[in-house]
Formats: sequence, C-alpha cells, structure tokens
Amino acid sequence: MKYQLWNNFSNMADFIKNPLIITRGEGSYVYDKNDKEYVDAISGIWNVNLGYSRTDIIDFMYEKSNEVTGVSLFGRAHQIGIEYANELLNRLDNDFDAVFFTTGGSDAVETAIKISRSFFYHSGKQEKFKIAHFENSYHGVSYGALSVMGINSNTTGTGPMLPGSITLPKPTSVESSDIHWELIERKLNNENPDTIAAIIVEPIMGAGGIIPIESIILKKLREYCNHHDIILIFDEVVTGFGRTGNLFAYKMHNIRPDLITVAKGMTAGYAPLGGVLVSEKIYELFKTNDIVFRHGFTYGGHPISCAAAYKTLRILLEENVIDHVRQKEELLWKYLLDLSFEFDLVQEVRGKGFMYGLKLDSKFQGIAKTVSVKAQENGLLFRPAEEEVVVVMPPLTSDENVLKDIYNKLQKTLHEVSSQFI
Ligand code: PLP
Repeated sequence: MKYQLWNNFSNMADFIKNPLIITRGEGSYVYDKNDKEYVDAISGIWNVNLGYSRTDIIDFMYEKSNEVTGVSLFGRAHQIGIEYANELLNRLDNDFDAVFFTTGGSDAVETAIKISRSFFYHSGKQEKFKIAHFENSYHGVSYGALSVMGINSNTTGTGPMLPGSITLPKPTSVESSDIHWELIERKLNNENPDTIAAIIVEPIMGAGGIIPIESIILKKLREYCNHHDIILIFDEVVTGFGRTGNLFAYKMHNIRPDLITVAKGMTAGYAPLGGVLVSEKIYELFKTNDIVFRHGFTYGGHPISCAAAYKTLRILLEENVIDHVRQKEELLWKYLLDLSFEFDLVQEVRGKGFMYGLKLDSKFQGIAKTVSVKAQENGLLFRPAEEEVVVVMPPLTSDENVLKDIYNKLQKTLHEVSSQFI
C-alpha cells in the first residue's frame, strides 16, 4: 500500500521502512496490523490518560453529538461547553473565572500570549509585549508558541520568530535554586520588566527532558510577576488533568498563576480540545469593558470535544483516578530507580506522579532514540525527549500489572542496549 500520510515530528524515510500502524487499543495496550501487542508507556502522545476503548466516553460523545454538532463559540454558545467550563472551574475551587477554548495545546499557548498582550494594550501599557520562557521549554509549534520554544532544534530553518522573546536559564543539577533564581532575575531585569507582558513556564518541563521546576523558583516567579505587573502563565498541557497526582500541578505548589494553558489529557485523547483558564483579574477587563477579543478557532470548544472533556473530568474524579496515581506513583518510581541502580547507562530518574524521565548517559549521543527503537521491538512504546531522556508516562489508569510489564520490557531493552554501547 502507498504511504502518503506525512507524520508529525517523524523521519519519514525511516518510518516508511518500518511503519508502526496502530489498529486498535484496549486499556494501556495498543495493537499493530499484525496484532502485535505494545504497552503504551507514553499514553498516545502524553494524552490518552484513561487508556483506550473507553466506551463510556465514546457513548457520551455520541449522545451529545445528537444535540448540537457544529455549534461554534463565535457570538454564541452551547450547553455542554457552559456546563463543562463551570464543572472544571468549580473543581479548581474557582481559582479561575473563565475558560477560553481552543483545539489543542499550541493554539492554547497562542491564545495565552494574545490575551497577555491584549490585556496590557487595553490597560494602556502598550510597551509591555515581551514574553519570557525557559531554555528547553516546549509550548507548541505554531508561530507564537514556537517563538517561546526553548528547544532550538525545533525552530531551525523556520525563523524569524516573533519579536520580544526572552529565554530564561533552565535549572541544572549543579547549581542551587538560589543561584538559579539569581540568573533568572538578572536576565529579566536586563530586559526591563516594564516591557515584559508574560512569563510562561511548564511546572515540569516535558519534551525538554522531564525537568521539574522547584517550588521556590515558581514562588519567586509569582512574586516577581506581582511586583512588576507581569502575567504568569503555567503551561499545564502535560501536567494538567491528574498527570502529577494532582488535578493540576499549580495546586501542588500552592501558587496561583494568572493563566493556565491546557489540552492533551483534557479529553483523554478522545477528541481535540485545549484551552486557557483565565483569572478574574484578567477576565474582568474583557468582561466589563466594551472590548471584543478578536480571536477564536472554528473548532475551538467543539461540542463533541467538550462532551469528551466533561466525561473525562467526571471519570478522573469519580473513579478516583488521581488517587490511584498517588497510590501507585511510588511503585513506578521504585521500578525506575531499580533500573538506575542496575544499569550504568541510567544516570537519573526525575518526575512526579505518572510523569517520569530516565536520564541516560549523554556521552552516548542518540542513546534515548536507540532505547526507544529497541523498546518498540520489545513491545513497549516511548518517545525520547531532549538530553537523552526516555519518558515514561503511562495512562493514569495503569494498574500494577501494567507498571510491572513496563519495568520488565524496559529492563530487557536496557540489557540489550547496554551490551551494545558499554
Ligand atoms: N505545551 C506543552 C507543555 C506541550 O508538551 C505541548 C505538546 O507536547 C504543547 C504545549 C502543544 O500541544 P499540541 O501538540 O496539542 O499543540
């Protein structure tokens, strides 16, 4: 059969030689055309948080599709969108006042950047337009989101980017958080805080290599933003909806950002959806003045996607999925730690909840990719992240047997790769 589909982020020459075509999924497992089974240790692309073939979500989407398919949010609304927005904000103790729906994560980041600039424009502070982000960060691939991309290989050949982008240093294992903060503050001060509209940060960097940002740094960012009238954006596209064992990571740090970008696990992979959670301080300006925020996507907040998100949220909370992550995170952590003791190749395990990275020895360039390719042969799916990190993010519903299966297959893979490299 001809292969005319151009995949995302793929070396097509390699892929076509050995295509992985998934035909079905069940729980934490997927199956290819030959019915080979794979444990999905990456939850689709970090989004299939409740596993595959959840007929309860599919049924609910079908039920709602009969009501309002195709109603947009351009100057009108639909019931399931309103109900979902209320339910989500209510579950977050009404820390936020509104949700702006998008179709995914990149356009959620685009939207957050535009809300930030627009907020200052309408507040009479047009000079505030710069957006700061961290080195190694990943916020998406459309141009606004790409302009705050901290992984250089993802922007090569597609510049120039938006003006006013500031790169802050990422945390490293060698320096203390005090020094890290000093470096961040110096960079922000050098840029003149009066020209900065927003700072965007992933509480745990995902594609950049599963790098958690320390609470103390997030607190200092919050204080800095308060002091200089800067909007603090948490990008929780990955960490949101239970991934860290909390509904959102900001709750774990007890720091309230001004905007949160969400997507991925929002619908557990059953439909495309993203959004921005907007604090009262910002929404108030748009709500109470004669301002039209001239922004929106035809399919942003599609009713069937909102139905998928509504059902996903109910399942997360009513089936105690987040409690399950909390109960099992130690087991998953222990398995990964055991692998780091067993194999010299594994230098560090980092992360939280069901979101971990195995940092491999970077003196072997391309090692994380080699491990991922070998793992696939062994019936285990991952994607490598930056800095030779293998990312382990199984569906949040994965039970002990699935976690053990991941451990066994990863152990086998590391044995095979170690004998090749060391
Ligand atoms: N933000 C973060 C933290 C992400 O990891 C991603 C995607 O991986 C995005 C934004 C972009 O999301 P999407 O791929 O839905 O556009």
